[in-house]
Amino acid sequence: MSKTVLVIEDNPSNMKLAVLLLTSEGYGVLEAVDAESGLEMARTARPDMILLDMRLPGMSGLDAARILKSDPQTADIPLVALTAQAMAGNEEEIFEAGCDGYLAKPVRRDQFRITLQRFLGTASLMGSVGQEE
Ligand code: MN
Repeated sequence: MSKTVLVIEDNPSNMKLAVLLLTSEGYGVLEAVDAESGLEMARTARPDMILLDMRLPGMSGLDAARILKSDPQTADIPLVALTAQAMAGNEEEIFEAGCDGYLAKPVRRDQFRITLQRFLGTASLMGSVGQEE
């Protein structure tokens, strides 16, 4: 059973890139184009990791992060912010909101793989063998 990553991203080309990178690594992908539907998917589908765009229509990524981390159903899911503003200050705000890590956009494949490995362990196709639960 491959691991599933929920991507919450409103920009179609950024979404397309994230889906391409994830599927090429063997992960399952769930897509949400706004925070509201993303929160609902996170609660019902319980993905193994969430990639969360910080700039979304309606509810912001920061507010969505706070909700995800205050809900016992989703608090333990690794949460990685997708941000175009990789400047000091924003980073602090992102971690304060509860994100476990962040990726600067445009996302680079090597950074992406490092982040997936950090939060999901070894290659997805290996399943959960050898990982602590
Ligand atoms: Mn956006």
